[in-house]
Amino acid sequence: MPDQTSSKSDAQAHHPRLPTDTDNGLLLMISGPSGVGKTTITRGVERSIADSVFSVSCTTRAKTEADVEAVDYHFISDEEFQELIDNNAFLEWADVFGKKYGTRKKWVDEQLSRGRLVILEIDVEGAKQVKAKMPDAFGLFVLPPSEEELHRRLKNRKRESEELIAKRFAEAKHEIAEAKSSGVYDQFLINENLDEAIVEAIEKVRTARREHAMNSQ
Ligand code: 5GP
Repeated sequence: MPDQTSSKSDAQAHHPRLPTDTDNGLLLMISGPSGVGKTTITRGVERSIADSVFSVSCTTRAKTEADVEAVDYHFISDEEFQELIDNNAFLEWADVFGKKYGTRKKWVDEQLSRGRLVILEIDVEGAKQVKAKMPDAFGLFVLPPSEEELHRRLKNRKRESEELIAKRFAEAKHEIAEAKSSGVYDQFLINENLDEAIVEAIEKVRTARREHAMNSQ
């Protein structure tokens, strides 16, 4: 699918004040419970929108075999994380499942000032902090088609013990309730079919970006 920015030069010829590249900068927060497919959706959005960038978070959680340093996360120690908190370096940070995760502010600001679509994949706590500081941020929350289906998907991942699956399921239900009552999310997206959910997410983000650029004029 062609990116929205590709038709910019045509449109500029007929419009007295079109959005500049900088106006186009938008902060996108994608959240959802584990097992809902949000990472795949996030990466799908990133691939399809040419000037989008994924914010690689810092985390104190252990690196797994599937993780790539500086692509999935910056894996850092508790001490290093604390130093970043003390230096006010985080736009937001949160404790998720007993480990810390945070978004570096300076990098996000730089990317936004270049007019990019900056994608954060963060939890509801983090999204609340971002929305309080940057009300223009666009929040997208990915939902499972039903609780039963989420439970089934968590079980099918075969990554975790029965006990941990039960814990993840309880946390997921709590996170969904939190997301709905938080007022932070502009759109809720039900992931019934992954390919369709990716297309829908891209459309929602493109619409949000257009509206954001218009409002910045
Ligand atoms: P995982 O360890 O499975 O990759 O991620 C666990 C949870 O942490 C997910 O819900 C993910 O969205 C959240 N998360 C990842 N990075 C950040 C971050 O920088 N800030 C916050 N608040 N949550 C994050």
